[in-house]
Amino acid sequence: MTGHQCGSCSRGSNDLDELRRHSHQTGHVGFRENDGVNTSGAAEVVEDAESSGSKSGKGRIVVAAAVGLGVATALGVLAWKCMKLKAENDELAAENGELKNENGELNSLAGGLLAEVAELLTENEYLKSASGAGTTLRSYGS
Ligand SMILES: [Zn+2]
Repeated sequence: MTGHQCGSCSRGSNDLDELRRHSHQTGHVGFRENDGVNTSGAAEVVEDAESSGSKSGKGRIVVAAAVGLGVATALGVLAWKCMKLKAENDELAAENGELKNENGELNSLAGGLLAEVAELLTENEYLKSASGAGTTLRSYGS
């Protein structure tokens, strides 16, 4: 059994360089190890990517930590803002309670005014009526 086999045909060899030459000559792509793992021409590229990937992997962890820190800070700010808003809300609720009381007073005041207006309207109706001041004024006019 040969150590390596061409990925495009049944050409096999223990010498990887021989298979590389075969690949160049035939244009065949890739070769396999006899254990079935594909170690195609991209293997070297993959290795490069892995070695540089470990660097960028560390980079990613740093970025993730920075993002985590940012999120924690953002959450802290949000919590602080939330507390501040809650305090403000409590103040507003107290103010709202006061306004409600004031509103109640205004309502009773308005009720009193309405009663007064109703009285005035009745009086006005009386003045406009024939038996009221209207006739009196008219009689003065003629
Ligand atoms: Zn081949």
